[in-house]
Amino acid sequence: MSRYVTLPKGVTEDTFTKAIQEYRTLLGEERVRIDQASLQSYMRITFSEGDGLHRPSAVMYPKSVKEVQAVVGIANKYKTPLWTVCNGENEGYGSSSPATPGQIVLDLKNMNKVIEVDQELGYCLLEPGVTYAELDQHLKKNKINLWLDVPSSSANVSVIGNTIERGCGYTPYSEHFLFSCGMEVVLADGSSLRTGMGGIPNSTSWQVFKWGYGPYVDGLFSQGNNGIVTKLGTWLMHPPPPGGYMPFCIKFPKVDMLGSIMKPLMLLRQTNIIPNACTLTSAAWEGDGTNGNKAGQAAWNLYGAVYGTPEQVALNWSYVSGAFKDGFGDKIRILTEKEAKDDPVFEYRKQLMMGVVSRQETALDKLRARGGFMRFSPTAAGRPGECDQQVKVATQILRKHGFDYISELIVGWRDVRHNIDLFFERSRPEMVRKAYACYNELVDAFIRNGWGINRANVAFMDKVADAQGASTLRMNRTIKKVLDPNNILSPGKSGISQG
Ligand SMILES: Cc1cc2nc3c(=O)[nH]c(=O)nc-3n(C[C@H](O)[C@H](O)[C@H](O)COP(=O)(O)OP(=O)(O)OC[C@H]3O[C@@H](n4cnc5c(N)ncnc54)[C@H](O)[C@@H]3O)c2cc1C
Repeated sequence: MSRYVTLPKGVTEDTFTKAIQEYRTLLGEERVRIDQASLQSYMRITFSEGDGLHRPSAVMYPKSVKEVQAVVGIANKYKTPLWTVCNGENEGYGSSSPATPGQIVLDLKNMNKVIEVDQELGYCLLEPGVTYAELDQHLKKNKINLWLDVPSSSANVSVIGNTIERGCGYTPYSEHFLFSCGMEVVLADGSSLRTGMGGIPNSTSWQVFKWGYGPYVDGLFSQGNNGIVTKLGTWLMHPPPPGGYMPFCIKFPKVDMLGSIMKPLMLLRQTNIIPNACTLTSAAWEGDGTNGNKAGQAAWNLYGAVYGTPEQVALNWSYVSGAFKDGFGDKIRILTEKEAKDDPVFEYRKQLMMGVVSRQETALDKLRARGGFMRFSPTAAGRPGECDQQVKVATQILRKHGFDYISELIVGWRDVRHNIDLFFERSRPEMVRKAYACYNELVDAFIRNGWGINRANVAFMDKVADAQGASTLRMNRTIKKVLDPNNILSPGKSGISQG
């Protein structure tokens, strides 16, 4: 019987033992774990596939860039693939499970220094393990008055993990990858690369000018497997002056109002009258996770905010409230802080849209506790008809497979991230099969309509990558072959591998 939980594909037990010995010489036994108990939290799978398909063989915890470079050297020598995570909290998309069995999880959570915060120009430079909570504490401790932009998951997710997954938050700096600036990456040959202006010795603009000179390469390291990101710069927002922030919620009674909501909303977003990524939550998302008309429950809840000087806020709010009153009259309910009083959901959204690290327990957490959870994440163009149509197609497929439509639409400048959550009991094989079939059909139907998927869990990465077209796949594989000839960095990530 093997002493390992599992082995990487094509690696014998003998070779793996030699590799582990070398890793341990480098990092020590405590930071190279192969036992079941240490691997347990990396084997927690919420998506609809068998555990065995995504079991890691070991987990390692480097503490410095030099150690990461040395790890990569050993990985090349023994062809032991490394699945890198910053914090491994990618719940809904695969958590920390590798795309294929036997990969060694390279957990960077111990590399957690806030290297620099520049208050004047509003940016920070971070190591991969820094969480939103830690960055928040750092700002508070050093009395730095800059806003974060946090995802709604939890304060304990990594800023870099979220950013290179192209995640989003809810302030005007919502698009995390867009607001990142300058990376340091360890490549598969063990060398270290600084992108943008970072290659210039003593660069003064690494964290302020994204583009550098020549081809812009940062994208190769987002949702990718061409390197291990060891540092990242990200911009932080200067808060508006006192009285310069006004959150609001507008409640719409009918599902089929979505198209009519999108029309004024996209104009308000593109003119930056509403500058933040606002959200439209469905009744089930906001309520207990089930569809159905409950008394007083809105079909859509729009959360947004206006920012600026108090005068700008007053003026912009008159445009926002005017646009929706004109369109809907007394069919809608408009809540500002005054009307919302102590409503905890309003308070939670208010905090989120000013980048405060807070997490509100919801009924959806109870559903998530059943073990099965996948987030289906298509993008919609912010056109009224398209958003409406996506909701109809999704609802019909979900119902067919016995699921409720539970969604949050995050409204960008021209796009809408249409997050749809599937919850199921993971201990029941028939529910796992149903969830798989449902997600699979959702992908097929959305692609058929020309609607791309912006993030996928590891069970569906190949399928979603295939849908991007043969040319994209070929180019990604060519780049991978050149940068990582031994296929040691997260093979299978975003459907990119070398067989
Ligand atoms: C209730 C709930 C709410 C959520 N809300 C949001 C939300 O509002 N916005 C949002 O964006 N997401 C959201 N998520 C999804 C997810 O929780 C977050 O995106 C989270 O930030 C990802 O976890 P992490 O930061 O620990 O990243 P990790 O799990 O560490 O990393 C994510 C992936 O990035 C890659 N990666 C990580 N580190 C590196 C590295 N150093 N080099 C190269 N590749 C690397 C790996 O492939 C890894 O799987 C939510 C999830 C839940 C359950």
